[in-house]
Amino acid sequence: MESCPLDIAYGEDVFNEKAMREYLAKDTVETLLHTMNDRAPLDPSIANEVAHALKQWAMQRGATHFTHWFQPLTGTTAEKHDAFFEPVGTAETIARFSGKNLIMGEPDASSFPSGGLRCTFEARGYTAWDVTSPAFVKRHPNGATLCIPTVFCSYTGEVLDKKTPLLRSMQAMDRAVRRLMACFGEPNSHAMITLGAEQEYFLVDKELYLKRPDLMQCGRTLFGAPPARNQQLEDHYFGSIKPRVLTFMEEVEQELWRLGIPAKTRHNEAAPAQFELAPMFEELNLAVDHNMMVMETLRNVADRHGLVCLLHEKPFAGVNGSGKHNNWSVAYNGKNLLDPGKNPQDNAIFLSVLASVIRAIDLHADVLRASTAHFGNDHRLGALEAPPAIISIFLGDELTEVIRRIEQGAAASDDNDKGGKLRVGVDTLPPIPRDTSDRNRTSPFAFTGNKFEFRAPGSSQNCSGVCMALNTIVAESITVLAEEIEQLPKATFHEGLEAILQRVIREHGRVIFNGDGYSAAWVEEAQKRGLPNLRTVPEALAVLLDEKNLDLFSKQGVLHPTEMRSRYDVFFAEYARKVRLEGKVALEMARTILEPAIMKELGALAKMVHHTQAAGIQAGLRTLTAKAETIGTGLDELAMGCTALETALGQDEKAILQAMTSLRNVADKLETMIGDCHWPLPKYRDLLQIH
Ligand code: ADP
Ligand code: MG
Repeated sequence: MESCPLDIAYGEDVFNEKAMREYLAKDTVETLLHTMNDRAPLDPSIANEVAHALKQWAMQRGATHFTHWFQPLTGTTAEKHDAFFEPVGTAETIARFSGKNLIMGEPDASSFPSGGLRCTFEARGYTAWDVTSPAFVKRHPNGATLCIPTVFCSYTGEVLDKKTPLLRSMQAMDRAVRRLMACFGEPNSHAMITLGAEQEYFLVDKELYLKRPDLMQCGRTLFGAPPARNQQLEDHYFGSIKPRVLTFMEEVEQELWRLGIPAKTRHNEAAPAQFELAPMFEELNLAVDHNMMVMETLRNVADRHGLVCLLHEKPFAGVNGSGKHNNWSVAYNGKNLLDPGKNPQDNAIFLSVLASVIRAIDLHADVLRASTAHFGNDHRLGALEAPPAIISIFLGDELTEVIRRIEQGAAASDDNDKGGKLRVGVDTLPPIPRDTSDRNRTSPFAFTGNKFEFRAPGSSQNCSGVCMALNTIVAESITVLAEEIEQLPKATFHEGLEAILQRVIREHGRVIFNGDGYSAAWVEEAQKRGLPNLRTVPEALAVLLDEKNLDLFSKQGVLHPTEMRSRYDVFFAEYARKVRLEGKVALEMARTILEPAIMKELGALAKMVHHTQAAGIQAGLRTLTAKAETIGTGLDELAMGCTALETALGQDEKAILQAMTSLRNVADKLETMIGDCHWPLPKYRDLLQIH
């Protein structure tokens, strides 16, 4: 074993197994590990001992406070710090942290969105320890805080957070996968869902950022003409990383490693000033928590380097936006079920899981799309740089050929080598390459050799919603398949299995698409195939209320219909608020920053016209007058655009967005005509450069 040459102990700020063994009695460690690894119920009798150990361990790292760390429906993380120390008399303190403090918290939670599940007058919300994600210490310049990952629910037990349904969906997958594995005579074990979340982000210089009220308030630019040089030279992607950025990245990685977050790769992304960080995959619940910490760390460290990290899906129009590729798979008994394997038994399991995924995506593409519904993502999906809003599956040539041969079934010749019928559970699959050569970047949901890569999620989204949806729909499909497979007679098991897979592929193969997802032809083709194309948040969210989907989530034990409805309300309200906020910011900027600048330019031009005329100079007079006319017309258009936006702010979201686009078009055109000395906002050409 070799350690990192830097002076960092990996995971030193996580209460991991090593720390547990150091601070807890052996029996307690075993009990705790049993809950963490085998999902056994928590034994409350160990809570006091664990709390005491956690306190000692955290205080050694400088912690003065503890907090329950949870993920409300805002999509971010929440924390309310409590000091360990309590005064005893007037001159002394005592450090206290009990099992009760560890297990349960009661934040005054009235301001978190609940979608009507909890009225403010009975605003009690509870946080409860999630033993499966280890506690960690967050360090800051003047101290440190012990963070305890928790779930968050209402007094009556309804979920108010993103973690609880994720955990429930993992249970649904576990039930389904166990059942399927039993059909194949596999030993009793449990399913582990894995996630590797590739995080894209932009960096901008903080000084410039502070001069852009749109970036500061909305996380994206509401105005800005594209610079002559953007990403057309394709020289940023994988280019050499500038020293300032590399120094920032190194600090981010070191912080993450200390927290036991396996940051693995870093590179320049396609757009200028865009970058990516990818961790090694981990167990899903942990990977989701870790991604939340990755986002926070990126932001915090950027600030120390005079930079701002933008996690918005589309900070700059006209250049690529940022996504978060969710690499998802499921393992059972330590084996990745989306790895085709080398023998017919493993192949048969792989094909059954694959068929379940195909069925799930075809039947519930709407649910998966809804999970990516996020205002920022509307600017990205379908913008010819990210997958379209149509959910389809890319399988690659080799696997598509395998599927075709199963689908053809008895109609094909029995000659396996010539690409004829493939006998499931008897023949061995041809090797499915894992290389990147045939990667189709235009697909929202791509098979990449041993996992699926869901590329539609937005860069700022909490992965839990997306993975919760994926788990739920796949669990339903695996259960349906398992129910059928259970009925097969032993003697004709493989023939029966083949027939089931054949039917599933025939019924649901329409969702497989290996072509160019960016092309207009695909939009038409997808419509013919009957695949939904839900372009905007309101369209996508609406499907959550369909009876079929309420039923699906309820049957899988993930979200009760009232919980689902409350989520719809929360997400829709968030969307509406964001649109309105952007509209207001755009209006204010146009009126108080852009208009005065344009007036100044017009005034200067008018003065020049006047002076030129007074001096009896003919040369240039026509140009000056024409320019003044153009700018003057632009000013009129801008003023009209503002009035239109003001009116739209009293109407619905669609009207606001339309009015914002019209206003932006006028402003961006003016930006290209006004003298640099008068343009009041940092331009894209500067924002997209890091020196
Ligand atoms: P790329 O997509 O850039 O070619 P990789 O295929 O190596 O890179 O991996 C991308 C991400 O997928 C990484 O975060 C990696 O850890 C993750 N990954 C690899 N195997 C699995 C798996 N079985 N389950 C979930 N994620 C995985
Ligand atoms: Mg990728």
